[in-house]
Amino acid sequence: MKQFSKIMEIQEYLCSQSDIGKRIGFVPTMGALHKGHLALMNRSKMENDLTVCSIFVNPIQFNNQEDLAKYPRTLASDIKMLEDIGCDVLFVPGTLEMYPENETYIFDLEFGTLDKGLEGKFRPGHFKGVAIVVKKLFDIIKPTRAYFGKKDFQQLAIIRHMVKTLQIPVDIIPCATVREPDGLAMSSRNMRLTIAERTIAPKLFQIMSMVKTKAGKIPVEELKEWAIKKIHENPAFRVEYFEISDEDSLLPLRNWNQKEQAVALTAVFLGDVRLIDNIELFS
Ligand code: AMP
Repeated sequence: MKQFSKIMEIQEYLCSQSDIGKRIGFVPTMGALHKGHLALMNRSKMENDLTVCSIFVNPIQFNNQEDLAKYPRTLASDIKMLEDIGCDVLFVPGTLEMYPENETYIFDLEFGTLDKGLEGKFRPGHFKGVAIVVKKLFDIIKPTRAYFGKKDFQQLAIIRHMVKTLQIPVDIIPCATVREPDGLAMSSRNMRLTIAERTIAPKLFQIMSMVKTKAGKIPVEELKEWAIKKIHENPAFRVEYFEISDEDSLLPLRNWNQKEQAVALTAVFLGDVRLIDNIELFS
């Protein structure tokens, strides 16, 4: 696997590859890799000639400095995992490489309804930070296809919107959430759970699955209230939001008229670890 930390150097290499007709698949990550990331990488390997992974803990998407400081960093084992699955290129830029001092990066993209609720409401500025870094990475890598997990459902919607609005020539490929055998959605943050918290964590997806079986049978508002109450039956959980939304606009659903579009999304604190998850209710 080739490894780069400088923009000029990776650009030069990838240009030489696309010049000879190679299709580039790209998986942007913040590292602390797990099987969820690897599923994206494997899909890219199947569909492209060259797979590029980036690892960059993007400071401008953290609205909470403590969360940034505590974000797990496991570069040595990440490199090993990437080598084992046969990733072709790794890009690990430093912060100053991505955000040079004195750089003014003006980016005033409107996300309409997409960034107003859910994560956008509780993490002000988060999606602007995500969009800026992904745009920069797309400019550097110039991928044919880029792979994003449905685990971050709202992020996927934001990226698709950005690509469409700015007419960026890349195919965005959504990938299903990879879960632990007990249902917990894989996440780099899971490694910060205590042993006791880790045994409680799968309860969240169990309740989401129960929500799916109840969807369409009781009114939307009643189902949301039921879910929040059910999650709080375990006092270790603190629900930040639980919403049932339209999968395109991400606006809250008022009834089941458009039920094919319904997705339940939640953010829940377990101790000081913030878990997010979602489930499509009729697919
Ligand atoms: P992150 O490193 O958390 O920024 O994630 C990098 C990419 O991996 C994003 O597109 C995530 O949505 C995706 N991802 C993270 N966890 C999972 C998972 N459990 N299943 C599928 N994709 C995931």
